[in-house]
Amino acid sequence: MLVRIARCPFSMLVVLLAAGLQAADEKPSPSSAAKPAKNAPPPAASKRVPPAPPLDWKAGAAAAKITPDTLMWMAGYAARKQPAEGTLQELYAKALALEDEAGQRVVIVTLDLIGVLVTLRESVEKQVQEQYQLPPSALVLNASHTHCGPEYRERSGREEEARNYHAFLATTLVRLVGEALADLRPARLTYSHARAGFAMNRRRNYALPPEDVNANKAPNPDGPVDHDVPVLCVLDAEGNQRAVLFGYACHNTTLGFYQFCGDYAGWAQEYLQADHPGLTAMFVMGCGADQNPYPRREVELAQRHGRTLATAVEAALFANPRPLHGTLRSALEYVDLPWADATKEKRRYPVQVLRLGHDVTLVTLASEVVVDYSLRLKRELARPPALVWVAGYTNGYFGYIPSERVLAEGGYESPAYAPGIEALIVGKALELHRQWNASAGKSGGADTANE
Ligand SMILES: [Zn+2]
Repeated sequence: MLVRIARCPFSMLVVLLAAGLQAADEKPSPSSAAKPAKNAPPPAASKRVPPAPPLDWKAGAAAAKITPDTLMWMAGYAARKQPAEGTLQELYAKALALEDEAGQRVVIVTLDLIGVLVTLRESVEKQVQEQYQLPPSALVLNASHTHCGPEYRERSGREEEARNYHAFLATTLVRLVGEALADLRPARLTYSHARAGFAMNRRRNYALPPEDVNANKAPNPDGPVDHDVPVLCVLDAEGNQRAVLFGYACHNTTLGFYQFCGDYAGWAQEYLQADHPGLTAMFVMGCGADQNPYPRREVELAQRHGRTLATAVEAALFANPRPLHGTLRSALEYVDLPWADATKEKRRYPVQVLRLGHDVTLVTLASEVVVDYSLRLKRELARPPALVWVAGYTNGYFGYIPSERVLAEGGYESPAYAPGIEALIVGKALELHRQWNASAGKSGGADTANE
């Protein structure tokens, strides 16, 4: 059953309003500030066509529908009592392949799914290495964490549907990576960012004294958040936008009903693609483990948050995108996270760092990472004009990854890891990042390897 929901008039109003405010608030640019005197002939320089920026990248994009063709059980809420009833919005997997002038490649895959199971990552990683010689470090698999997608972990009584979907997904993703690589064409890349404010820290404020009226209440409007909306834009030779990759750190949980849909991240992608025919819009989930979208629980609200996020992407594209030049680098290593119970087997945890040209560092962390990681890594990795993008929910999915603060406070997002896991994870990201800086210093910046 396919239920269609018309785009809400409110979201259109937000866009129109934003456009109006932007025009009213616009500050004069340096060029428009120095206007020629009335009746003066136009300066000769205005006729000069600026040289086109070099097409120093290649990029390719591909997308595939991954909505289950059966009414599978849905992922995300333990309290679910029945399988899906239908599809409100199709779910997609999308791939963006990038290649630098030296031929180094990276493929970023985004999924409208709850998470990337370790077994899925292993299967796709192995096959794309064999078929396309793509090294594991150069493959990014990120899930939007929609709670309105299929459950493909093997749960009691539903093993077969999970196995079938897992196999379909692996086949589809391998094919998709191949299609994105086959689509590689000359391109320009830009990076910019804006902000969106609907994510709020969903934990209670542990700093409040017990007698405070809000001591045991969530959400916490004073809690840490990361409202950044990073945007990587792929342009063709004519300057047309071919693809945008954008991120946000917030649980994709406006909804919890029985219709397949991508929640706010699904609508943000849908709106961007509808407003820019031919564009592939891809959502990358950030460190949103302790963040929820507010308000929530209605389809109209998921659409409104989607429109807000899409508008932030448009704002970022308006805000002086920085052209990216240089090379691609990627590294993927694992740390072993110890549990408080030392007899329990340590969690093998992937940390991936990519450099997109000279300026942008993308750190990917696995599973449900709280926002402290994003804020800390941005602080510790930034060296102007370096721009840092931190993704969670990447390359593995196995529950919450608390920061040292959240581990000490306890609560829902704090499984019983041993103290010190934040230092292990952050330390690995810094180590991977540092080794390139050291080698760039020695080799004069000729950083061209996948590791
Ligand atoms: Zn979650």
